[in-house]
Amino acid sequence: MDSLPPGPQPGQRRNSNLRAHYNNFDRISTVLVDGDGESQIVDADSLRGPVVPKKVTVTMDMDGQLSIDEDGHPTGKKETGFYCTPGQIFCAIFVGLAVAAAVGFLAFYLPVRTCRNRSVIGDPTNPAIIPDPTIRIPTRKPTIIPAATEEPWMGRLPLNVRPLRYDLTLTPYLYPEDVFNGPGRRRFTFDGAVNIRVRCEEVTNVITLHMNNITVYDLQVTSMSDPHANNLVRNSTLDAYYEFLHIRLSEDLRVHENYEIRIIYLGSLLQDGLVGFYRSSYINVRGEEKWLATTQMQPTDARRALPCFDEPELKAVYDIVIRHRSDMTALSNGIEITTRPWQGYKGWKETIFKRTPKMSTYLLAFVVSDFTYTANYTTNNVLYRVWSRPGAADSREYALDQGVRMTTYFEEYFDYPFPLEKQDMVAIPDFYSGAMENWGLILYRETALLYDPKVNSATTKQHVAVVVSHELAHQWFGNLVTPFWWDDLWLNEGFASYVEFLGVDYTQPGWEMRRQFLVDDLHTVFTADALGTSHPVRVIPINSPDDIGEIFDAITYNKGAAIIRMLNNILTEEVFLKGLADYLKLHAFENTNSDDLWASLTYADRHFGRRDVKKLMDTWTLQMGYPVLNFHRLSNTSVNVSQKHFLINPETTVEQRFGNLGYVWEVEFSHTHASERQYDTPRRTFLDREVSKVFELSPGVKATDWYLSNIKQYGYYRVNYDKTNWDRLTKQLLDDHKVIPVENRAQLINDAFNLARAGEIDQITALNLTAYLDKEREYLPWDSALTVVNYIRDMYSRHPGYGPLEKYMLQKITPLYESLDWNDDPVNDPHLKQINRINAVHIACVYGLEHCLMKATQLYAAYMANHTLYNPITPNLKLTVYCNGIKEGGQDEWDFGLERLKETTDSAEKNLWFYGLACSQEPWILSRYLELVFDSEVVKHQDAFLVIRFVAENYVGRALAWDFVRANWNRLREQITHYPLMKAFQSIARYFNTEYELLDLLDFLDGYTLHQGVRTFDHAIEQTLANIRWMNTNGEEVMDWLKMVTRDIKS
Ligand SMILES: [Zn+2]
Repeated sequence: MDSLPPGPQPGQRRNSNLRAHYNNFDRISTVLVDGDGESQIVDADSLRGPVVPKKVTVTMDMDGQLSIDEDGHPTGKKETGFYCTPGQIFCAIFVGLAVAAAVGFLAFYLPVRTCRNRSVIGDPTNPAIIPDPTIRIPTRKPTIIPAATEEPWMGRLPLNVRPLRYDLTLTPYLYPEDVFNGPGRRRFTFDGAVNIRVRCEEVTNVITLHMNNITVYDLQVTSMSDPHANNLVRNSTLDAYYEFLHIRLSEDLRVHENYEIRIIYLGSLLQDGLVGFYRSSYINVRGEEKWLATTQMQPTDARRALPCFDEPELKAVYDIVIRHRSDMTALSNGIEITTRPWQGYKGWKETIFKRTPKMSTYLLAFVVSDFTYTANYTTNNVLYRVWSRPGAADSREYALDQGVRMTTYFEEYFDYPFPLEKQDMVAIPDFYSGAMENWGLILYRETALLYDPKVNSATTKQHVAVVVSHELAHQWFGNLVTPFWWDDLWLNEGFASYVEFLGVDYTQPGWEMRRQFLVDDLHTVFTADALGTSHPVRVIPINSPDDIGEIFDAITYNKGAAIIRMLNNILTEEVFLKGLADYLKLHAFENTNSDDLWASLTYADRHFGRRDVKKLMDTWTLQMGYPVLNFHRLSNTSVNVSQKHFLINPETTVEQRFGNLGYVWEVEFSHTHASERQYDTPRRTFLDREVSKVFELSPGVKATDWYLSNIKQYGYYRVNYDKTNWDRLTKQLLDDHKVIPVENRAQLINDAFNLARAGEIDQITALNLTAYLDKEREYLPWDSALTVVNYIRDMYSRHPGYGPLEKYMLQKITPLYESLDWNDDPVNDPHLKQINRINAVHIACVYGLEHCLMKATQLYAAYMANHTLYNPITPNLKLTVYCNGIKEGGQDEWDFGLERLKETTDSAEKNLWFYGLACSQEPWILSRYLELVFDSEVVKHQDAFLVIRFVAENYVGRALAWDFVRANWNRLREQITHYPLMKAFQSIARYFNTEYELLDLLDFLDGYTLHQGVRTFDHAIEQTLANIRWMNTNGEEVMDWLKMVTRDIKS
């Protein structure tokens, strides 16, 4: 699945990368901790059977010799850590935090809203992190109600029967005239009939499968070996909490015999939540409302479409028939075999689909619509179709071209042909996530699939290419080979999030996607993973649906991608691709866990680096966070390096519930120096879970040289230097910045500002690095700089430091702005120049550059005067024009924007207006705008969180958005559902930076029933504390520096 859409804002695209949407659950798992260089790797072949996988021990001895012990026993130890007993209802830990040293201390206690312990990381004798005993404990008590899932989670299927094949027939009723006579049937329901062939693995007289929001009319279980067998069903019950259907039988099932479960049922085509088999709608060119039925099953909503064994490990094949109106088309995972009249039902047809490959339930998909398509074939003769509402037919060509070419690329990359005859990609008008990778039938939000060069920007074009690439990568990584359970979701999503850049790099080589990875994925997740409330990518244990829902996040996607990219770089492309191809062939149509991939890569590396990949990667997957490497030069050639868990707020507490490996990592770090400048094959040094060591710079280094580590930022670690080296690097940037690779210019800025936020270096060292920016013309360092400066800008929104910051940024951005100007040529300008221009023009206007504001308001006025004729604004600069036209204007300009929002049928254009309308400086207009969240004719439920987020990004609207969300919390939760609301909440809370706001936040959380979203709230509190700390320790110093360097600039 891809993320929620990022929204159109330049410079802050990455802030929207959190991908939490859906719920699931887990049984308690066990962490395999290796003690002394041993790795437990699950044997590939043993996974083909239904029994517990055989463990194979792969050992690497001192000289790199691999030995494999095939009768090894599972030697994993239970994860250590502290858990509250199930009987404990309230588990609150009081954490005292002394903040605001300059203004006296302020103490808070933070209720921990789940039953888990926290402990302070690092040296417990360190006085800096021991709560002050004089802290005032407020008498106010939290009224937190723990989630019902505090009880042990018993929601896993028993595996005593396994599904082999589903025969499924579905009949959706979308229009009033569709409904036939029959019990319970009405518009927006569907009839279902499913025959599930199962194999008995253990003697049992109860079959348990999943079912949700379904009414069963008939239920039978018969033996397949006896054609005249009786119905074995004695009775059945529904366990609504675990969404289980328990079928009790009149006799025991016999092991290794096949049985058939036959269920006739009725389901609902709900629109709330956009999950399961649901309905969506759009207005056609004649103004008529048209309906469609579509799906979103991942992770646990296939059970809303059919009773099924809804866990990823329980793969089966599917024979699907869909009955539908003759004026509509039905699609499913397999290609249509035939479409024929439905006997006895005039005006109806039935479409029969080819049997699917063996696959997981969460990948099932059906679409019944009046959509049209554009088609082509891949070089391997796979039929490729892009579907949309007919009015968007002009916007399909780009995605089709990308999809066809990327499919061929991935077939070569994975060395495995695409196994289906066709690939459909459909733009769904109502869709919560960015896209869903259903095998052979990928579904997208419209903004992630449709691109019209006459209307949409280069940013939209890139978004479409990236999401298409991501979903296509899943066709192999996720669909062909699937994790056993959601604790390895990171493997699916991390992998797709990495190779999505490679797919686009193949089709669009000039876009430098491999470089863009740094600012799009890596720098974003570095921020999230520097919190004590982060989590390991491999989340063990997962005990509840909420746990699963919350790991569809930046850690799972972006960190997963970043550590796979790092591993690719360490192993080399040759070894990595070989291991990958072996892994896919070995486990095709089956399930795996992370260790299976490590085993294949270890095997591929046996004649090369001879690394124990599991041992290496466990330090990156089984503990949260990442290290900062601190370098201190000891002599001309000798450098001491030490590693430390990097935390953005060193006073924070680090969550202990996931366990850790001592917060040391296996780091293979690269380095070079001024006299060498070896950027392509730099020297590497290995830290084997050592805290520190001394290494030598390569020969030829001079005493006055700078040195540089993490070349091109392949490593998932931050780099800190001695002060002398920082100064030398700063001087090099000022003298000739092009000597340092563009990736490292971006990295130096991102690292330095975050190190300064954490107090690892002084703020001035970081600020000095930006002094050269007036000479910088490349997209990557600028994008990196804008992200870190945006943080300071957000902190200063109500602070006297804002004026000097504005002066400074205008001085730095103006040369870039003038070099790019408004002469946008979307056809002939290189793509990177276009997105660089989008950033530069937008930021110039944000900081109030007069020329920029004048151009924007002139263009907006020109559009208002002639909107019935044409839009004079180039697609790339619409965002800036809409925003500033409204910001500088009044009610007329805003009303004009609202009319355009209502008028346009282009979803990406709608998003621009959502952003532009939030730029008003009038509180009453912004309040009126927020109320539109409840008018689904103007703001679809799927877009409501965008409106709230954009208003919150406007300083004038920030407090309004917070008041609005608080006042309407329950209503919003019902209408836009939980996870989009969490995103809206996050987008507001990230700006909190005063003690007042922290207390306000705690007050709000006190009164909230915390069944879901605990992690989001933990992040918000931790982020607020980090912001307060930054303001107190750096706010004045940064302002003084900005004043000093801008004192000669006239306002
Ligand atoms: Zn995905």
